Amino acid sequence: MKKPFVTAKQLESIIAQYPTPFHIYDEKGIRATARSLLAAFKWNPGFKEYFAVKATPNPAILKILKQEGCGVDCSSLTELMLAEACGFEGHEIMFSSNATPAEEYRYAAQLGAIINLDDITHIDFLEQAAGAIPQTICCRYNPGGDFTIHNQIMDSPKDAKYGMTREQLREAFLRLKAKGAEHFGIHAFLASNTLGGEYYPVLAGVMFEMAAWLQQETGVHIAFINLSGGVGIPYKPEDKPNDIAAIGRGVEAQFKAILAPAGMGDVAIFTELGRFMLGPNGHLVATAVHEKHIYKEYIGLDACAANLMRPAMYGAYHHITVAGKEDAPADQLYDVTGSLCENNDKFAIDRMLPKIDIGDRIILHDTGAHGFSMGYNYNGRLRSAELLLREDGSVELIRRAETPEDYFATLDVTGII
Ligand SMILES: *Cc1c(COP(=O)(O)O)cnc(C)c1O
Repeated sequence: MKKPFVTAKQLESIIAQYPTPFHIYDEKGIRATARSLLAAFKWNPGFKEYFAVKATPNPAILKILKQEGCGVDCSSLTELMLAEACGFEGHEIMFSSNATPAEEYRYAAQLGAIINLDDITHIDFLEQAAGAIPQTICCRYNPGGDFTIHNQIMDSPKDAKYGMTREQLREAFLRLKAKGAEHFGIHAFLASNTLGGEYYPVLAGVMFEMAAWLQQETGVHIAFINLSGGVGIPYKPEDKPNDIAAIGRGVEAQFKAILAPAGMGDVAIFTELGRFMLGPNGHLVATAVHEKHIYKEYIGLDACAANLMRPAMYGAYHHITVAGKEDAPADQLYDVTGSLCENNDKFAIDRMLPKIDIGDRIILHDTGAHGFSMGYNYNGRLRSAELLLREDGSVELIRRAETPEDYFATLDVTGII
C-alpha cells in the first residue's frame, strides 16, 4: 500500500489557496532520507552526497539539503548559477557534464567546483577555457560492455555516450598530473533506478579495483570515488525499497577488502543521488476534470505530460491515489490522461482504481525527482507551481505557476498581452 504524505483533508485546504495542478514536496521526508544516507556512509569520514540538481532544481529544496550537509551536482550553466545562489561554494559543487560548452567550464572553475571530465579531449578544452587545470580533478569512467549483477544485464555502458575507457583514464591522469593536478577522483554512473541493493556495492568493487590499479600505474593521489546516482525507489506498490543502511555496509565491505589493503584508506566516497533523495518525497496533485467513455474509460486531468513527462517518455509507472478514496475498492479500469494532443499523454493505462468522480483530487506518487524539472511547454501548456509541505504542517509556495506572460516572454507579442 503506497500512502500519500498528505491527507485528503489537508489537500483541500492547500487547494483552497493553490489551485491544481501542482507539485508538492515533503520537508520531513527529505530530511529523513538525507539523514538515512549520511548514517549509512558514516564509516567513511570524507563521505559527501552531491544532490543531482537536475532532479529537483528548486532553491528551497537545495537549501534543505544544504542544511543536512549535502553538496550539489550540477551539469549546466543555470544549475551552477542556482547552486551559487543557494550558497554552495567550492568543493560543495560537483560539475558533471558532457559535450560541455567552454563558458560552463569557465564558470565551474571560477566557483572552485570539482570538475568531472567526461572525455580525455576535455583536458585541453578545460585548460583553454579556464586558463588552468584545477588542483582537484575528476574523470568519468565507462567500462564498455554490459554492466551485469549476477549475470543480469543492468545497462549497457558500451552504448552510453559518457566517460572514458580504462586506458584513457590512465593516460588522462598522467596528463593531468603533468599539468599540475594533485588530487584525483573517479566517477561512474552505470545503471539507473536500481532496486535490490547490490548496484552500489558491485559498482564500488569495480571502481575500487580500478582506483588501486590507477594509483599504481600513475602514482597520483586518488582522493575520492564518486558512485554517482542510480539508487532507485519503489515506484510500484510491490517494489521493495532499497535498504540504504545495507547498501552502505555493502560499499564498506568492498572498501575494506580492496582500498584499505592498497593503502588507500583515506579515499572519500561521494554520491550524486537525485531520485533516491527526492523521488518519494514529491507528489503531483491534479483534479479530475473530464470523464469519457468510448472504447475505453478515460479520466482527463488538469495536469498533463508537460507537468510529468516520465510516463510518456519511458512508459514509467507512477502510482495513483484518489484522495479520500484510499480505502475504496479499486474496481474500475481507467486510462488517466492529460490534455496534450499526443496519445502518449497518459499518466496511467489500464489502471484499476476506485470509481473517480469529476472534481476528485488525483495524487501521482514519486514525482519529487525528474518530475517538475523535465517539464516542458508543448501545446503551450504552462509549468505548474511547486509547494513545500513544511515539517510544522504549513505549506509554502516555492515556485509560482507560469502565466501566459512567462510563455510569451521570449517573443515580441506587443499589443496581444
Ligand atoms: C542524473 C544524474 C544523477 C542522478 O541520478 P538519479 O538516477 O536521480 O540518482 C547523478 N549524476 C549524474 C552525472 C547524472 O547525470
